[in-house]
Amino acid sequence: MIIYDLNCDNNHQFEGWFQNASAFESQLEGKLVCCPKCDSHKVRRVPSAVMISGHHSELNETSSVQSSSSGSTALMPVGAQAMAIYRQLIDAIAKQSEDVGTSFAEEARKIHYNEAPERPIRGEATVDECEALRDEGINVLQLPLLKDEDLN
Ligand SMILES: [Zn+2]
Repeated sequence: MIIYDLNCDNNHQFEGWFQNASAFESQLEGKLVCCPKCDSHKVRRVPSAVMISGHHSELNETSSVQSSSSGSTALMPVGAQAMAIYRQLIDAIAKQSEDVGTSFAEEARKIHYNEAPERPIRGEATVDECEALRDEGINVLQLPLLKDEDLN
């Protein structure tokens, strides 16, 4: 399942949920996608802000710094509130997805090519694997690995 930010010719913005990128293309061509405000079929995709990227090495460094200075909030004074909201988002994603661990890339491909049941999954993949998945048209959301102790 992927979420696209869409825009109609009257400049209304809305979200569309699609099974995959090709489902979006075919629904758009078949005029099955319309604006919820004005019913316009002249809909186009706008660049989405959903993608959250980060590098594993950076995240690991951040985590170790945060753990070693536990009890101090001075490290990220501005980010604490944003972090809490972000954490809720990650929790929601985690609850609604199946953890497939290190076979993430393999499983994501199977779902994409209809070899496995369509479902939200999460797991671990290398930066190279994520790049390869994106090259194949499979949208991947990268999330930092947050631990409870980092946020307290
Ligand atoms: Zn509209």
